Amino acid sequence: MTSIDNSSEQSLDVVLIGAGIMSATLGMMLKELQPELRIAVVERLDVAAAESSDAWNNAGTGHSAFCELNYTPEKADGSIDTGKAIKIADQFEQSKQFWAFLAEKYQVKELSRFINHIPHLSFVWGDENVNFLRKRHAALTQSPLFKGMSYSEDREQLQKWMPLVMEGRDPNQKVAATCMDMGTDVNFGSLTRGMFHLLQEKPNVAFHFNKEVSKIRRKEDGSWRIKAKDLATGDTLKLRARFVFIGAGGGSLPLLISSGIPEAAGFGGFPVSGQWLKCVNPEVIERHQAKVYGKAEVGSPPMSVPHLDTRMINGKRELLFGPYAGFTTKFLKKGSFLDLPLSIKLSNMRPMIIAGLKNIPLTRYLIDQVRQSPQDRFASLKQYLPEARFEDWELEIAGQRVQVIKKDKKAGGVLEFGTEVVAASDGSIAALLGASPGASTAVSIMVGLIERCFPQQARTPEWQAKFKEMIPSYGVSLHDNPQLVEEIREFTGRVLNLMAAEPTEAK
Ligand SMILES: Cc1cc2nc3c(=O)[nH]c(=O)nc-3n(C[C@H](O)[C@H](O)[C@H](O)COP(=O)(O)OP(=O)(O)OC[C@H]3O[C@@H](n4cnc5c(N)ncnc54)[C@H](O)[C@@H]3O)c2cc1C
Repeated sequence: MTSIDNSSEQSLDVVLIGAGIMSATLGMMLKELQPELRIAVVERLDVAAAESSDAWNNAGTGHSAFCELNYTPEKADGSIDTGKAIKIADQFEQSKQFWAFLAEKYQVKELSRFINHIPHLSFVWGDENVNFLRKRHAALTQSPLFKGMSYSEDREQLQKWMPLVMEGRDPNQKVAATCMDMGTDVNFGSLTRGMFHLLQEKPNVAFHFNKEVSKIRRKEDGSWRIKAKDLATGDTLKLRARFVFIGAGGGSLPLLISSGIPEAAGFGGFPVSGQWLKCVNPEVIERHQAKVYGKAEVGSPPMSVPHLDTRMINGKRELLFGPYAGFTTKFLKKGSFLDLPLSIKLSNMRPMIIAGLKNIPLTRYLIDQVRQSPQDRFASLKQYLPEARFEDWELEIAGQRVQVIKKDKKAGGVLEFGTEVVAASDGSIAALLGASPGASTAVSIMVGLIERCFPQQARTPEWQAKFKEMIPSYGVSLHDNPQLVEEIREFTGRVLNLMAAEPTEAK
């Protein structure tokens, strides 16, 4: 790492606020596109990837819409809307291509072991849900992105795919599942640290840990001044940059508001915390090998879809069930209870109140979740694992999501469950808000951000060629190119070691 003078205000090309997967992805891409860029990463904690990007704080699902039923809503006429699922599947293929590009180019251990092959299953019961799943399978398998997805109502087949889920189940219950063998589990924390490790090795890159950014101000010449407090010494770090990315996860909203850009007006945030049940019985863990996603209860938000996940974390196989939602006023897991109240400003008060009033069912759902006893949580688990034993499971705290609230011309204010890039019109500053589908789609989100904030450079033949090198399907719809899907899956599968039938060891 090249050190940059620390004494007065440092002048840089790019400041990345927050050391999560989004900043890591953007930093690596920008350095590939323009190696001479001077970049600083500022992080309030003492390590990278310790908030949402840490493996224990998210579900680690390589979101490809193989198993997530909320990405394929049923339309009023009973048909299945596959648009969102196709988009997410395409985005995840872009992510894998970028990761494979890095893994092949840099040959570092961290970038060959963060992703594992784990089948993705959707599992439902009851006539209505079974009909839905059958239709979903028929609709999705029209696209080459979902080639190889199997559907079954046969209990023997289901027993083979997920023995523990079927054991002890009521024989009269009508059940069905789909299985996409090529699903993945991703240790996003390990991947993030791997990318930062590479970034650190490059010239003109500085890391500032334990520094909390408190102010971002535009200077007269259009550049930005960033002030960060050293949380150990109380000193102030001053940076100046031509471009700022606010990749502070749940902490992005207050910083975006502090920048004062007109585009930030009206944005608010609604924090939702999460919990898992973690299996502590190695025999049970060993007998399940899949990510099994169910259907969210009617009226519950998309992030509450229950799933039973095989995970590979720090070289160990794990089994998690959840998430259970919760409520706290913190925007970050290691944040402050004042985060939510302090984020309410005159500019976002109206959208926040209206969104709150329009989402009473969500509030009710969260209250119910918070009031759940350990026995209530265990009862939800038993719907997926009929023979589960209470003593085999422990409660773990997951990461914090801050759902986006924004102004809406018609409704006044809306609550969103996706991610949103908010950028100044001159492209000199951008923030990422929201958390879903999140880390899996970091690559396409950051490509979009670069095209928006660096429009002239992005159009040059040099940058276009580099995009193609990093992501061979760049600019091409995979849904319309079955041959390309085959080719890039063969490439990413080989480089990322996803061909193995058994999960390999993750870092
Ligand atoms: C329960 C849960 C389950 C999820 N499951 C999945 C999944 O299965 N698949 C998937 O793809 N995604 C999933 N996600 C989403 C995914 O985890 C996030 O989208 C992703 O990790 C966000 O990365 P980030 O870099 O934006 O934020 P983070 O990883 O949170 O990083 C932000 C960083 O900014 C730092 N920071 C904050 N404020 C400041 C400040 N003022 N100054 C300096 N630094 C600051 C923080 O300390 C942190 O290190 C899940 C999220 C949650 C919470």
